Amino acid sequence: QPSGGAILAVEDLTVAFGGLKALDGVSLSIAAGEITGLIGPNGSGKSTLVNTVSGQLPVRGGRIRLHGGDVTGRRPDRIVRAGMARTYQIPRVPPTLTVEEVLSVPLLYAGRDRHRLPGLGDAAAIAAFCGLGPLFRRHCGDLSVTDLRRLEIARALACAPDLLLLDEAMAGLSHEDSVEVMGLIRNVHEQGISIVIIEHLMRVITTLCHRVVVLNNGRLLAEGAPATVLADQAVREAYLGK
Ligand code: ADP
Ligand code: MG
Repeated sequence: QPSGGAILAVEDLTVAFGGLKALDGVSLSIAAGEITGLIGPNGSGKSTLVNTVSGQLPVRGGRIRLHGGDVTGRRPDRIVRAGMARTYQIPRVPPTLTVEEVLSVPLLYAGRDRHRLPGLGDAAAIAAFCGLGPLFRRHCGDLSVTDLRRLEIARALACAPDLLLLDEAMAGLSHEDSVEVMGLIRNVHEQGISIVIIEHLMRVITTLCHRVVVLNNGRLLAEGAPATVLADQAVREAYLGK
């Protein structure tokens, strides 16, 4: 069954760039209410999976289901509307916009869906929740790398998601700052939002995740509890590049 308790499921998903299959017949499901780690060596297809399920890349084969409904080939804005938001590996915000302005755009757009996150109904509440309260009126160009990471999460929360995909949300952060962002991710989860997190820091995966999915060369290599998966011989070999 594609989705008993699954918030997101892909079935036999294939995505190709010319002759290269970045995803090659991947089937997996993401359980509602959990934090799922999506890991795998560089180039294994993690970002491609996120880009595809969020409607930004065309599917060559297979199905994507969100809340059990088929969203294969749907436009990105429709998928956001259906409850899935994502952040980007490389944050891109216009430097001359303020934090308030960046959050206002998705909030306006997500108007009808705001009931999904009643405590986070306006830009000020979302900024405060993400630790950006004091920076509300500041220009994005003045923000630190860590605050840009927070803003990336805040902007996704402004879409009122019930599933949030985080593509390397801690890349480039110091240990201390990554611990803070981990705290934010926990708080997001406590709002009832299911989370998929792409992360190469294993301490983040073991600390935050209920379950882990491993990709290698565009294929599903392993899935299960973090401790079990990280001890798996095939997973270890994939990371050693054998
Ligand atoms: P990961 O996020 O796991 O590091 P990606 O999903 O970014 O991996 O990439 C998977 C494979 O697809 C890699 O071989 C990568 O070079 C290739 N790829 C990704 N995006 C593109 C693109 N826009 N055009 C061509 N090849 C791409
Ligand atoms: Mg990537």
